[in-house]
Amino acid sequence: MIVILKQDTPKEEVGKVVHHFEQKGLSIHLSEGQRTTIVGLVGDTAAIDINDVKAIPCVEDAKRVQEPFKKANRKFHEDDTIVRAGSVVLGGGHFSVIAGPCSVENEEQIAALAKAVLQAGAQGLRGGAFKPRTSPYAFQGLEEKGLELLAHAKKESGLPIVSEITDSADIPLFQDVDIIQVGARSMQNFRLLKNLGGIRKPILLKRGLSNSIEELLMSAEYIMAEGNEQVILCERGIRTFETATRNTLDISAVPVLKRLSHLPVVVDPSHAGGAAWLVPSLAKAAVAAGADGLLIEVHNNPEKALSDGAQSLTPAQFERLMKTLRQYASLEGKTMRE
Ligand code: PEP
Ligand code: MN
Repeated sequence: MIVILKQDTPKEEVGKVVHHFEQKGLSIHLSEGQRTTIVGLVGDTAAIDINDVKAIPCVEDAKRVQEPFKKANRKFHEDDTIVRAGSVVLGGGHFSVIAGPCSVENEEQIAALAKAVLQAGAQGLRGGAFKPRTSPYAFQGLEEKGLELLAHAKKESGLPIVSEITDSADIPLFQDVDIIQVGARSMQNFRLLKNLGGIRKPILLKRGLSNSIEELLMSAEYIMAEGNEQVILCERGIRTFETATRNTLDISAVPVLKRLSHLPVVVDPSHAGGAAWLVPSLAKAAVAAGADGLLIEVHNNPEKALSDGAQSLTPAQFERLMKTLRQYASLEGKTMRE
């Protein structure tokens, strides 16, 4: 249930309303927007008579929320949530591009790519250290060493870093990582989501290969329910009958997610298309659809990449795309840091 308070309700009154519902065993999600204050009630609200709530003097209106996701729901939080990590700012009109290799391969590679993507205008650096691969015989990532090399590249470039976690036990290793990525294959690893809910760091949550939009939002809810509200939703393509592309980019998911939730939405055109030549078209479509940012794979020698070379842009291709994306973002009224 959401309880909308009258404009300019004094803080003391807001506190009383919160206390009133807390005493009923509900947890409260308070959202103080520019125009209104919304008190979101999480828990079993079935026994609450909505007319009693509406009768509270400072209450403007009260509504039951039908959707199973509450804290991620835009009804609970009217304004866009803005997630910040250094130069990466997502949501509320801010647009950022996070770029880098699929996997961190060695010191020279990640250092060179950090420099290249920074020069091209990216706001964040990505690089996988723990790689979820279909085959156990494929390159699994440099693991702890990979995170160290990534942290070094962050120090040298000043770019905040994004890397994927596959196991809760590794959380302590992610101290220097600014945004922790949950990969498509882990989207419904609920224990992992709960544990990430216990830390105070932005989580980039990728949509699962065969998961619905509502399931993605429920996974975000798992993280938020534990107290971490810094969640970034990522559309990275879903599995369909189509075989011409690696996945099918569900472009409709962008406006749907923006409508249903206040959380920032980023698109990964690299894993969606699976081919470098497709990346610019999908990236532009994402901006036009209302995305708050992009996650793009870039490699200095795609042919020799240890993972996802076919979908990786060269630094030159990425630089060209960034110029176009700046124009697209500005057309959409979004601001992107220089
Ligand atoms: C990745 O970002 O390199 C990755 C493995 O992505 P996904 O989980 O979307 O497949
Ligand atoms: Mn990849």
